[in-house]
Amino acid sequence: VKFVYDFTEGNKDLKDLLGGKGANLAEMTNLGLPVPPGFTITTEACKVYLDSGEEPVALRDEVSEHLTALEERMGKKLGQADNPLLVSVRSGAKFSMPGMMDTVLNIGLSDKSVQGLAQQAGDERFAWDSYRRLIQMFGKTVLGVDGDLFEDALEKAKEAKKVTVDTELEAADLKKLVTRFKKIVKTEAGRDFPQDPREQMNLAIKAVFDSWNGDRAKLYRRQERIPHDLGTAVNVCSMVFGNLGPDSGTGVAFTRDPASGHQGVYGDYLQNAQGEDVVAGIRNTVPLADLESIDKKSYDQLMQIMETLENHYKDLCDIEFTIERGQLWMLQTRVGKRTAGAAFRIATQLVDQGLIDETEALQRVNGAQLAQLMFPRFDEEARTEQVGRGIAASPGAAVGKAVFDSYTAVKWSRSGEKVILVRRETNPDDLDGMIAAEGILTSRGGKTSHAAVVARGMGKTCVCGAEELEVDTKRRCMTVPGGRVVEEGDVISIDGSTGKVYLGEVPVVPSPVVEYFEGRMHAGADDADELVEAVHRIMAFADRKRRLRVRANADNAEDALRARRFGAQGIGLCRTEHMFLGDRRELVERLILADTETDREESLKQLLPLQKQDFVELFEAMDGLPVTIRLLDPPLHEFLPDITELSVRVALAESRQEPHENELRLLQAVHRLHEQNPMLGLRGVRLGLVIPGLFTMQVRAIAEAAAERKAAKGDPRAEIMIPLVGTVQELEIVREEADQVIAEVQEATGTQLKLAIGTMIELPRAALTAGQIAEAAEFFSFGTNDLTQTVWGFSRDDVEASFFTAYLEKGIFGVSPFETIDKDGVGSLVQSAARAGRATRPDLKLGVCGEHGGDPESVHFFHEVGLDYVSCSPFRIPVARLEAGRAAT
Ligand code: PEP
Ligand code: MG
Repeated sequence: VKFVYDFTEGNKDLKDLLGGKGANLAEMTNLGLPVPPGFTITTEACKVYLDSGEEPVALRDEVSEHLTALEERMGKKLGQADNPLLVSVRSGAKFSMPGMMDTVLNIGLSDKSVQGLAQQAGDERFAWDSYRRLIQMFGKTVLGVDGDLFEDALEKAKEAKKVTVDTELEAADLKKLVTRFKKIVKTEAGRDFPQDPREQMNLAIKAVFDSWNGDRAKLYRRQERIPHDLGTAVNVCSMVFGNLGPDSGTGVAFTRDPASGHQGVYGDYLQNAQGEDVVAGIRNTVPLADLESIDKKSYDQLMQIMETLENHYKDLCDIEFTIERGQLWMLQTRVGKRTAGAAFRIATQLVDQGLIDETEALQRVNGAQLAQLMFPRFDEEARTEQVGRGIAASPGAAVGKAVFDSYTAVKWSRSGEKVILVRRETNPDDLDGMIAAEGILTSRGGKTSHAAVVARGMGKTCVCGAEELEVDTKRRCMTVPGGRVVEEGDVISIDGSTGKVYLGEVPVVPSPVVEYFEGRMHAGADDADELVEAVHRIMAFADRKRRLRVRANADNAEDALRARRFGAQGIGLCRTEHMFLGDRRELVERLILADTETDREESLKQLLPLQKQDFVELFEAMDGLPVTIRLLDPPLHEFLPDITELSVRVALAESRQEPHENELRLLQAVHRLHEQNPMLGLRGVRLGLVIPGLFTMQVRAIAEAAAERKAAKGDPRAEIMIPLVGTVQELEIVREEADQVIAEVQEATGTQLKLAIGTMIELPRAALTAGQIAEAAEFFSFGTNDLTQTVWGFSRDDVEASFFTAYLEKGIFGVSPFETIDKDGVGSLVQSAARAGRATRPDLKLGVCGEHGGDPESVHFFHEVGLDYVSCSPFRIPVARLEAGRAAT
């Protein structure tokens, strides 16, 4: 194998091997852009080193070969006393990990060559400044010396000289500083700063390899879900200097605005400086546009290069450049990060420019970005004080009174207050408080911390790891930078999309994208903003491309109408249990408590017209589109009062000698219905089989509602769905009864009804015997929530809050299987059941209605295994449409 590539040998598609930076340096070199010559050590070399603790044997020789070639090309030798070649050694992994790993500049300087550099550049100050930077960076990153010691020494030197900026230090001052820095290295690292340039280089390369496993880097990778085994490449690049005087400088630039997507001149420039000065904010940068008046020639060339890069990459690029005495050099480029809104705008702009086509435009955006754009957001105009920033863990904009424990969160929210739960970090005990709160703010922990995982699961706004905030749960307060104290009850606002934390109430405005989907803002209208135009066009691209249909999970007319506005092509899951709550609970209680057949029939009779009316409204809202109605699914005790509460009521009544016959009967029923594992108990199709008349009442309501809609010239398209079927016999029995009821209704109303009957596939046995079940089912809808629960043996109601954080941290899975379909396990059952079902009944309709129906990655999977539709909650419909379109490209 080859461990070292010259910049002329690579290209942008070799990111796995050369890292992002190395691959793009090679690409720019081959485009003929001014890149300082250099070479890249591959990630393979890094992997060998990380696995074995030793650099690959061949590496030293290969580096020597490339170094010699570089020296010949540049006409000078690394660290040569009279005319030194200097190089930078930079990390560069496949995925950008900003600031996470090491870089050392000015390698090759020593007590001797610093003189040579001074002569060569004709600038003594510059040479000593470069040398002190080398010792500082090398000391810190390679030798592990505390960086503050160097910073302090630099501060002292400035104070002694009574100056405020480093450029005011003269050669003599810097010489002294070098001596001081070398002493710091000697005492702290226990060795001299190495004078041999090749030793400097070898140590720096090793340090970059090692930095892959630094704590910061590891944490970042966990948060960003970057695999730990990729390793980093190392770029050795001949130095160019931005600190050679006022005709030199360094800057960063974007080929278009990463926030708005607009084309223009975006970036910052810093005269007479090296790259790290920009990041460190030592001096103030000027807007890139100012470069035009500072150095017109370089500016024009830069604009030209930016255009070349955009046309070549066909995307927004960000770049780092340096100007050395009027000569422009490109030090880095990559396809730049952007906000969700900019992603949509840029994609359509590039289509308009003819750089990409619709299919490619769909690849430039994703459902997660669209979801982000659909959250209400804080009004950007509002002037509110930002006091901290953490990790944007779960999007949304939340305002409320700060509370510091779950008990208070629950108590206050019960009395109608909006609260933000503030903790150092959360644990499963905080669950009640998290549910009660508008949002969650923690000062510790990353994107996979308990708070983040649970909040995302609940769809609740969360900012975590806001480390500048000092949370004191004992004293019920937090201290913000600058010393202000936020007490319990003070109002704060948190933005889960940016991670920002504000004091006071920030006004919230609805998302323009939701306004658009709701039909309150129109693309093409004068006041429609550019984002809405872009989203409108991208959605049209997606709808044209996709094969999967998208339906909604909705159980009332209001949700159904919204779903329709959002583009739903039907209802994939109407959960009828929601129709048994509220003021109907009493009737359901009576049904459960019925001692005699007459009692039971009476309560069912009363429920029938109510149910029927529900369906009439639903069919009207979804006129002409399929509506899948699932018969009652949850265990009956869910409709009865809580056992503890009821026991207390009975005991109280007893002690007061008040009548409590009804409570007592209820309590007995609760005890009778109690199950250790209700999720595996009397629910779903089992209810239909053991409670006479329940399912048939529902089927009758559906059939009568359909007949009524038909009489009203509507177009009802009802589908009846039986939940939790494990064997075809269950389905056959229920089906026979249903068919009979439907026949009765047809007869009585004189209406011909076409009601499809199908089943959910949400138990492993159902999936495994799908071929048999399809004999009795006209459609399957995969209930991937229960299927995940039963395939993994994970309680869907408990695990996310209990041990999933540990599982995520240990890397057992990267994301909860309740969020993204577990392809290997649950997914493969879906695939084989779909196949078996279609083998029995080629026109079997296949859908999915678990939460996964609105999850981007899962949508791609369902497309691949050939389902007909996904069904998800109304707000996820645009996301599912977009991802279905992306999956089909
Ligand atoms: C499922 O199990 O995936 C499903 C959609 O049904 P529910 O979530 O109501 O159990
Ligand atoms: Mg289910």
